[in-house]
Amino acid sequence: MKYFILFGPPGAGKGTQAAAMADRYGLCHISTGELLRAEIAAGTELGLKAKSLIESGALVPDEVVEGMIESKFESTKGVEGFLLDGFPRTTAQAVALDGILARRSAEVTSLISIMIPDELIKERIRHRAVIEGRADDTKDEVIENRIRTYHDKTEPLAEFYKKAGKYNEIDGTGSIEEVSGRIFGLMDNL
Ligand code: ADP
Repeated sequence: MKYFILFGPPGAGKGTQAAAMADRYGLCHISTGELLRAEIAAGTELGLKAKSLIESGALVPDEVVEGMIESKFESTKGVEGFLLDGFPRTTAQAVALDGILARRSAEVTSLISIMIPDELIKERIRHRAVIEGRADDTKDEVIENRIRTYHDKTEPLAEFYKKAGKYNEIDGTGSIEEVSGRIFGLMDNL
């Protein structure tokens, strides 16, 4: 079983690329952002707690997403592996993921980091706001807060996976197909 992590700032195109990767390599795509938005839409207790945090551009507590990931691993059968999108997002989550995988006698296969400059992040999120209507995509101060949260809490994770020899970087600028081409070129050799 393979466990890939898709890494990059909000708006890097993780969701778009994840769909193509899951399809090509028979992976189950798990997006913690999507799982949380489904909880909000269903009006669950977890969704109610997550809503205000997400809409301010903050992260939800580590334990919440860790629990969601573990139960998704347990309930999914018949796949070649998993593609994690939006998780881990903090060093604590990365440590927890290693624990969850150790209990499954597995480990992270590889991390793929999609790199784009901050200016392009804002442009892509504004474009997505028009198409998807996500509440956290419309306000400038929320977008700024998400970018800040990414640089402060998530970007340091790159070091964690570099030390483990599992870090790979690709250029996320250009068309969807150009970026997919770079990712497939890398993953075909992993
Ligand atoms: P983006 O593409 O903007 O990064 P996501 O759909 O991945 O969007 O996440 C949206 C929001 O959901 C995040 O800003 C955060 O509040 C919450 N979230 C998603 N994944 C996590 C996580 N692993 N840990 C904490 N909060 C998360």
